[in-house]
Amino acid sequence: MAYDHIFSEHLSSLKAEGRYRIFADLERLVGEAPYALWHSPKGVKKVIVWCTNDYLGMSQHPAVIEAMVEATRRYGAGSGGTRNISGTAHSHVTLEQEVADLHGKEKGLIFTSGYIANEATISTLAQALPDCVILSDEKNHASIIQGIRASGCERRIFRHNDLADLREKLSTLDPKRPKLIAFISVYSMDGDIAPIEAICDLADEFNAMTYLDEVHAVGLYGPQGAGIAAQLGLQGRINIIQANFAKAYGVMGGYITGSIPLVDYVRSAASGFIFTTSLPPAVVASAYTSMRILRQDTALRDQLWSRVGLLKQRLEKSRVPCQPAGSHILPIVVGNAGRCQAVCDLLREEHNIYVQPINYPTVPRGQERIRLTVTPSHTLEMIQQLGDALEDVWHRLNLYLAA
Ligand SMILES: *Cc1c(COP(=O)(O)O)cnc(C)c1O
Repeated sequence: MAYDHIFSEHLSSLKAEGRYRIFADLERLVGEAPYALWHSPKGVKKVIVWCTNDYLGMSQHPAVIEAMVEATRRYGAGSGGTRNISGTAHSHVTLEQEVADLHGKEKGLIFTSGYIANEATISTLAQALPDCVILSDEKNHASIIQGIRASGCERRIFRHNDLADLREKLSTLDPKRPKLIAFISVYSMDGDIAPIEAICDLADEFNAMTYLDEVHAVGLYGPQGAGIAAQLGLQGRINIIQANFAKAYGVMGGYITGSIPLVDYVRSAASGFIFTTSLPPAVVASAYTSMRILRQDTALRDQLWSRVGLLKQRLEKSRVPCQPAGSHILPIVVGNAGRCQAVCDLLREEHNIYVQPINYPTVPRGQERIRLTVTPSHTLEMIQQLGDALEDVWHRLNLYLAA
């Protein structure tokens, strides 16, 4: 094709920068977690996955699988339409009530992914508010940023978790203008947690709405896994809580919860909600089952936290530069795309450990990292082996060690 050379040039520059993305071709077999089969260029090899977002292994939970299989047999593979045109299954309605109940909100709305939930909701909401300004944490997820862009509203980016900067930005705005503060509870690449209460105080003081992404917190934190806002008793002070079923819940799909008028408006106006086929009833049924399990049973969560503690200790002992920031996510900054790739290659080739390098634009340049996530199925021996492997790789590549 006549234009191909242009794409090839773009790809060459990605490769030169060391951030050309190579996907690991995996088979995560049920009952084998945290092992997976890696289809490498040299053949198939068994590796331990150390970077999954399936934090509790719920994607392989027997009841979650059973719900999906059972619902498929009963209702078929697809929903058969958009939500408006024959694609609202009873399972959608039930799950929307469930998420609203989980977060103590009046109404819930399901989207095909967490990404779409953020983009569609933020763009729709902000457009409805005349002359709205959106205050956005600088480390917000791409889906929030896209939502803000699509809204066409003015945006002010405040420094990450920086209350003084947020206050300063709020105080320079016309008090009469509508304002929306968009932020995240657990930031996925740093593993740190937002000062939610203080942000709510600022929102009250300056009459702003609050929009909180709890994607990495639901299922893991707070009573019944409702997230960080729930853990702190702050759900009532957040106007819109967004999350998904794809991380701790181990399935797929996104949602928002909020007041009846707000959610009903998004339902009625958001293009990314309206003009797309709804999730298959089987996906919805298994997400529902996963959420129900994690509302009642904290055993898996408790196991996760004990593993997180063990992994932190082991990393500290190895002196690799990991900076735990209060959540279950443990990032180790390598600081250069090529070196980060080399770390991951050595781990995979020589230690049968799979972690994916995290590069720009997911993190800023110079902040390239690996992001470790442990699950209940990782044993103490696996944690020790990971520590040994990191020590080996850090020494061989002569990388920075913490004091
Ligand atoms: C993964 C993620 C999303 C997107 O959710 P999907 O269901 O994967 O589309 C949104 N926000 C944050 C913070 C995320 O990490």
